[in-house]
Amino acid sequence: MEHPAGSASPPVRDVVDYELLFDCVHCGLCLEACPTYKVTRAEMDSPRGRVYLMKALAEGRLALDDDAARHLDLCLGCRGCETACPSGVRYGRLIEDARVFVEKNYARGRADRLVRRLVGMILPYPRRLGATLAPLRLAERLRMRGLVTLALSGRPREWMELLPPLRKAPDQRTSTEAAHAPAPGAPAVAVHHGCVTQVLADSENLNSERVLAAAGYRITKLRRTVCCGALDLHSGNLKRARQFARANVREIIRSGADAIVSAASGCSTAIAGYGELLKDDPEFAADARAVSAKLRELSSLVLERGAPKFREMRCAVTYHDACHLVHGLGVREAPRKLLKSIPGLRLIEMPESDMCCGSAGSYNLTEPAMARQLARRKAERALATKARYVVLANPGCEFQIAAELRRRRSRTEVVHLADFLAMALER
Ligand code: SF4
Ligand code: SF4
Repeated sequence: MEHPAGSASPPVRDVVDYELLFDCVHCGLCLEACPTYKVTRAEMDSPRGRVYLMKALAEGRLALDDDAARHLDLCLGCRGCETACPSGVRYGRLIEDARVFVEKNYARGRADRLVRRLVGMILPYPRRLGATLAPLRLAERLRMRGLVTLALSGRPREWMELLPPLRKAPDQRTSTEAAHAPAPGAPAVAVHHGCVTQVLADSENLNSERVLAAAGYRITKLRRTVCCGALDLHSGNLKRARQFARANVREIIRSGADAIVSAASGCSTAIAGYGELLKDDPEFAADARAVSAKLRELSSLVLERGAPKFREMRCAVTYHDACHLVHGLGVREAPRKLLKSIPGLRLIEMPESDMCCGSAGSYNLTEPAMARQLARRKAERALATKARYVVLANPGCEFQIAAELRRRRSRTEVVHLADFLAMALER
């Protein structure tokens, strides 16, 4: 039987779920929603081009050479194309599977291998990341971080520039106590503290708890948090992604939480996908589905019980939509609604607010050139609003946009939504 897209060739390689490729009708409506296409204007750097490419690879009409791997590597996995696609192409699923195929079958150059290995060995493990950053923490304490950065060049310097200050000032943003008593019978919420987030941006976890407590939820702590697996899903390491997912499923079920929240949008999407990821695991499939169903987004959950009492904040704010929140979970209005409920706050929309900033998990570490172009584009649009704050709900976007604003010596502050809401809470 001929497939609707006109190919009679059966797949000869297991690249992706082949049938899913036929959802694409090649209309091109996704092209302008794709950040990499916007930058390169090359069809093969567009969602449609990559669908062609996956199909050609699957049918054995194309070899997985440097060019093919390059076009797939350059995809941010931002899923902007899914939102734009009228045919319901499951692009996120396709690119995750294609990455597994690339990792198994493509021989990367030595430098690329080294970078990816370092990222995979360090980032998902908070202790390793903490130990790696210890010398920098010391340099920062001695006020020598600027000097250390200047002494570096190339990739290490770019990485250093992306890092946020390692010691945030002990202001209200790092307040840890949930000072509000939960309403009787209030649902229990657990915040998944993530891996990178708990080392570099723990205030976002603690303030998520604080804001949820202020909205009347009961906060339950997870005893042990491991990486959600998103970094592995985005880099083709399905085996370890499943290991992390099982550990998290076990702990979330044990906690008895009614809902699970993450301060990182990529982690939220990964947890929402546990049901699919572990569907063939006889021991975990049912619990994984239950955990996925518990995944909620901070602002939507807060609004369910009515926005807490906020103090007046006379300021202009622009909101950046983190990709996995807006394109993965479809959350667009709730954060805006919550921000607008703060007395005195003026929300100014920036153009392309839902276009990827180039952070994309570890993309800005492995694809720095494209990531930087997208960071510049985002910074220009944010600065054009003249807002004092760029608010967003993902630490990776925060580091990426803040680094670009620092390079421009801008005084615009980039603040995570949880930190911002905690600042606005009445004491
Ligand atoms: S996931 Fe993002 S970068 Fe990749 S094809 Fe879709 S829109 Fe383009
Ligand atoms: S919008 Fe959807 S159907 Fe149209 S080309 Fe893009 S992926 Fe294919």
